[in-house]
Amino acid sequence: MVTAFITHPVCLKHAMGLGHPECPERLEAIKRQLDTAGIFPALQQHDAPPAEREQLLRVHTENHVRRIESSAPQHGLVSLDPDTSMNPYTLEAAFRAVGAVILATDLVMQGAVANAFCSIRPPGHHATRDQAMGFCFFNNVAVGAAHAVSRHGLSRVAIVDFDVHHGNGTEDIFRDDARVMLCSTFQHPFYPYSGAAGSSDHIINVPLVAGSNGEIFRQAVTRYWLPALDAFRPEIIYISAGFDAHREDYLAGLNLDETDYVWVTEQIKTVADEHAQGRIISVLEGGYELAALGRSAAAHIQVLCRS
Ligand SMILES: [Zn+2]
Repeated sequence: MVTAFITHPVCLKHAMGLGHPECPERLEAIKRQLDTAGIFPALQQHDAPPAEREQLLRVHTENHVRRIESSAPQHGLVSLDPDTSMNPYTLEAAFRAVGAVILATDLVMQGAVANAFCSIRPPGHHATRDQAMGFCFFNNVAVGAAHAVSRHGLSRVAIVDFDVHHGNGTEDIFRDDARVMLCSTFQHPFYPYSGAAGSSDHIINVPLVAGSNGEIFRQAVTRYWLPALDAFRPEIIYISAGFDAHREDYLAGLNLDETDYVWVTEQIKTVADEHAQGRIISVLEGGYELAALGRSAAAHIQVLCRS
């Protein structure tokens, strides 16, 4: 069984202005590195379909979806938040980013592929039920997890988030839903300044101080994520795969490298093989230093491809 690689050309057309770190070149950097490493033959490539509105409404309010739809400009940029804006392609890109995760979920649940990587933007983990923020419009991973519950009848869905920023949107959406476990590591104190207030039985927040290296990250995963995941026995695992905790990333201050992303992907794979029939859906979130992003994502995907 192969790994699905899901993306769409319109994800390259969403752009938030000159010099914005969340730029189309990010997806090109990943593609270039996969090309260089010769990984594409091992991947089953798909174009992302647009998500259906009712799929979004499982986790977002009608108001939120309507606000995004009605903000879409014909020309130029419209700002929704100081660092989050829409151009004429953003709305379609946002619907297809979510659609990628829906397709990935269906392919993995049908057993058509072993696992999947969604190389999409805009990212999603800061989008709350009712608010676009932090480069995010719709919460791609959350909509996927809700689809696994509603459409495929799963009752134990795990989301692991190793992006350097806390996935406040994902926590907002699933705080009161024990069917979804969220395991997260993030730099703290740091944007969006949430997540450190504590954990619950299904929200496992592990704040890391600036400067933390791979060893500290691995200890956090080993001590907090893995026992919680083993006890939860997830039927599918989503990864909010942000690579901005890389030591070369200029937006944040953690010091991971490619070997840490390989290691954590192996750990997640072991949990998935043990409890979830290997089902993993990995979805791009952050990662802004282009070369480091390309190398890290390719190393991560290479582990997903291993049989
Ligand atoms: Zn991030």
